[in-house]
Amino acid sequence: MSLLDNTVALITGAARGIGRAIADEFAREGANLVIFDRAFPEDFEAAAAEWRALGRTVIARQVDITDAANVEKNVEETIAECGRIDILVNNAGITRDKLLMRMADEDWDMVMTVNLKGSFLMTRAVSKAMMRQRAGKIINISSVVGVMGNAGQSNYSASKAGLIGFTKSIAKELAGRNITVNAIAPGYIETEMTAVLSEEQRAAFMGVIPLKRGGTPADVARAAAFLASKNSDYITGQVLCVDGGMIM
Ligand code: NDP
Repeated sequence: MSLLDNTVALITGAARGIGRAIADEFAREGANLVIFDRAFPEDFEAAAAEWRALGRTVIARQVDITDAANVEKNVEETIAECGRIDILVNNAGITRDKLLMRMADEDWDMVMTVNLKGSFLMTRAVSKAMMRQRAGKIINISSVVGVMGNAGQSNYSASKAGLIGFTKSIAKELAGRNITVNAIAPGYIETEMTAVLSEEQRAAFMGVIPLKRGGTPADVARAAAFLASKNSDYITGQVLCVDGGMIM
């Protein structure tokens, strides 16, 4: 018996990075996968083939999570195809880092729209099915900067702090239907998103991480598998930091 045997997990932004690692971990724990992303890189098919070889179904759909009509349509089609959605991971996210004085309206709006509104649209669409099922697990990928703030990331930090408020509110709304809603706040994780940081920025992070290393996407994925499994049935509305002790 594996942690997520015979479940259906919908993960956004899982074509690469942390989302792909979550898909990988979930597939190894027995989950069937539905992935919504804007685009799928060439090496995605090889990963999907490995998951299929484990006996999992893998559905990859090109969906922009900021497009409400498209989200509704694709979630409905997914439910028609899979019969249910047990787990939703709102992972898709972007950064447009700038100091406040240089931040354009568009930088603010884009980050809020993808990170916060996109997660709202996905959650609203998927929770209808979870409410009917009277069961579900929703995991929102926030960030430590949503808790502690970060110079140069006011838009991103606000979106990730917003996601924590959203998580707690929805946890209260959906608890009566046996749906748990939790957030993961990753710290500094080595992905394409952080590959753009300068050596100086990287060194600054290492200085404040007690475990003295960057996290891996797999570190985040293992926490997500726990929150997606029965092992976390009495945990809701929480923020689990996966950050090497950066904030405590
Ligand atoms: P990546 O940029 O590597 O992957 C994000 C994925 O989301 C991409 O495939 C991207 O597609 C997709 N995406 C972006 N916008 C949309 C959209 N509108 N609709 C559908 N898919 C979209 O990011 P990471 O893997 O590093 O990050 C994953 C999550 O973890 C994010 O929410 C991020 O904020 C969070 N996080 C990351 C940390 C880190 O250190 N890396 C730390 C803390 C939190 P496309 O290629 O088209 O942009």
